[in-house]
Amino acid sequence: MQGSRTDLHRTATIHPLDPADHVAPDCTGLNFFDIDRSVRDLLKLYLPREDEQKLEPHFRRLGELAGGKLDRLARIADKHPPVLNARDPFGRDEDWIDYHPAYRDMEAIAFGDFQFHAMSHRGGVLGMDRPLPAVAKYTFQYLFVQAEFGLMCPISVSDTSIHLIRKFASDELKQYLLPKMLSNDMTTLWKGTQFMTERAGGSDVGAIETVARRDGDVWRLTGDKWFCSHADADVALMLARPEGAPAGTKGLALFALPRRLKDGSRNSYRIVRLKDKLGTKSMASGEIRLEGAVAYLVGDPQRGLKQMMEQVNLSRLSHGVRAAAMMRRCVNEALVSARARTAFGQRVITYPLLRRQLMKLIAPTEQALSMVMLAARTMDEATAGSAEARDLVRVLAPLLKYRACRDNIPVATGSMEVRGGNGYIEEWVHARLVRDAHIGVLWEGTSNINALDIISRGVGKSGAHKAIAAAMKRRLDAASNLPADFRNRLGLALDRSIALAERVAAERQSEAAVRSAASALYHATSAVLLAWEGSQPGVDGRRLLLSRFVLEHRLTGKDPLSPPDDAWERGAIDLVLADAPVSFAQAKRLLTA
Ligand SMILES: Cc1cc2nc3c(=O)[nH]c(=O)nc-3n(C[C@H](O)[C@H](O)[C@H](O)COP(=O)(O)OP(=O)(O)OC[C@H]3O[C@@H](n4cnc5c(N)ncnc54)[C@H](O)[C@@H]3O)c2cc1C
Repeated sequence: MQGSRTDLHRTATIHPLDPADHVAPDCTGLNFFDIDRSVRDLLKLYLPREDEQKLEPHFRRLGELAGGKLDRLARIADKHPPVLNARDPFGRDEDWIDYHPAYRDMEAIAFGDFQFHAMSHRGGVLGMDRPLPAVAKYTFQYLFVQAEFGLMCPISVSDTSIHLIRKFASDELKQYLLPKMLSNDMTTLWKGTQFMTERAGGSDVGAIETVARRDGDVWRLTGDKWFCSHADADVALMLARPEGAPAGTKGLALFALPRRLKDGSRNSYRIVRLKDKLGTKSMASGEIRLEGAVAYLVGDPQRGLKQMMEQVNLSRLSHGVRAAAMMRRCVNEALVSARARTAFGQRVITYPLLRRQLMKLIAPTEQALSMVMLAARTMDEATAGSAEARDLVRVLAPLLKYRACRDNIPVATGSMEVRGGNGYIEEWVHARLVRDAHIGVLWEGTSNINALDIISRGVGKSGAHKAIAAAMKRRLDAASNLPADFRNRLGLALDRSIALAERVAAERQSEAAVRSAASALYHATSAVLLAWEGSQPGVDGRRLLLSRFVLEHRLTGKDPLSPPDDAWERGAIDLVLADAPVSFAQAKRLLTA
């Protein structure tokens, strides 16, 4: 079988390569937590000390799996996509999906062992007597996705479905669904998903045509869902229009659709076919035809979309985390390859052009990680009751998703290029990373839809940019050990990005600029974060250098025809690519040089 061949091949590469083979190694066999100084530094800043200490062995264990067993399983599952069976041998419409055992093994790690889906909702996960903070949950996601991206969709959407049921469902519905959805027993667990998109509309949700008809205590849904990831989930949350409800988004209600009815029989909907996708090949995305399927109303029928947007926003945050994770894998692969490969008698990492190319992969990766930590920490503050944090996370999620998912694409391509021709060959992880990166700009809203959400709704209607400005000003104030000049430059860039966002939000004719305004907000916020993080004791000084890199390249205009003035940058690149840790003093010298 091809799968076991792939498996054996990877196992073979963890043995030291003979330099006479000339082929550079990959990251197989490395512990993705231990090699990631950035995430370890940031956990010390963003996670309470007690939680960080308790969870560190689990991060390390997942880091080892991600560089080992999980990675091998992911490669196999990618080559053996799920298969839909339309009928059973007796001709009955019992549709089901077959998965390769490698995918099932990954599910057991995610849902059975680490319990990603339940870790935010109950105690008893990884020895914790209470739900895990968001910072911890997203760190686990970040480590997992460095090996497997496709399965993170079912994992995350199970987690976010539980959130909606807990928050909006009736007590009766909670009692019916939650014990199954929160289980870690793979034989009884009900996994969740979210179906919104129809042929008539993905961005334009108000165009949804699925109709809901009341039938005693339940509802019956009729219609077609066009993009259904995790197509065979045990319970799907979806939007439909109750008969007689108004057109547009106002008339949409939220429903929970079980795959099996209480008597164990199949609910009246069919998975019509699976999509033949560019990426996320291990996971089944399909089309669903609802034929009077039984569903349960969730929450207020007049607030269906508003309620669903909570799930969408949580998914957006997770997508940002996934992009940060894939970029980290890309950077690690590029560094391992560039350090080993020789061309023209030298290691390729010694060439100035390639060094600059690596820096351009590292900067967006570290920006995304800082933004992940900020969003997750803000979510923890919101859970603890802060209204300001609740508003802030509502805009940070699309901001992170929008920019990090876009950055993921050139980073994946750039990493492939650093490996050279081998990067284009399917035996190596790069091809999968390039394919998977592209879905990030589509699901949970395209770049345009997310940018409109950030600027028109977040900034224009809710004034969220003011909360961002206040939070970043506090961090700049706290970084008092940085040179005043540098802090002033960061402060000015922040002010200007806030002013731009406000102006674009206020002027209808500026709609075409929402993406630039959102990007500016992201870059200014992440530059401040990197600077603040790098100013803290015990944190590697690279973050300071990357802060300046973002400032110079993303927030400062340059004349493309003037010669480069990049002496500081060569020094910064040397430090960033060095094997040794970078001290605060070393980095500080280059902030104003
Ligand atoms: C593999 C895969 C899995 C998916 N899984 C799911 C799932 O599980 N559940 C689910 O509900 N959906 C899912 N989706 C659907 C996905 O969320 C939508 O495809 C996406 O939101 C875009 O919608 P659309 O395809 O209808 O494109 P459209 O909405 O038709 O957009 C077409 C283009 O128009 C642009 N556009 C639209 N409106 C505006 C505007 N106002 N201003 C500027 N530009 C605009 C968009 O940016 C886009 O470039 C999945 C998609 C894929 C590819």
